[in-house]
Amino acid sequence: MGGVQTQRHTKGKRNRRRSHLALKKTFLAVCDKCDREVLPHHICAYCGYYNKREVIDVLAKLDKKEKKKRLKEEAAAQTARGEHKGGENMSELNPEELSKK
Ligand SMILES: [Zn+2]
Repeated sequence: MGGVQTQRHTKGKRNRRRSHLALKKTFLAVCDKCDREVLPHHICAYCGYYNKREVIDVLAKLDKKEKKKRLKEEAAAQTARGEHKGGENMSELNPEELSKK
């Protein structure tokens, strides 16, 4: 038989016990290739890269429709990143100014 409670714990005692129960935020690294969040020391599930090298061919496992969509996304991401590197002032502009252009 387990322990039987004989005395009541105060709110403070209860709260102090529970102060250690919070879940820690999982740390995520950023993929070198696609800038998505990946688990550290794991292959990127999206692009199959690890250590700046293609480890698994992710596209081979996708069907034609998915493949097309993925390639399109990749191209869009690359152009977006290229622009970001070229003009850092772009990030300082507010959305209203961007929509005018
Ligand atoms: Zn990736």
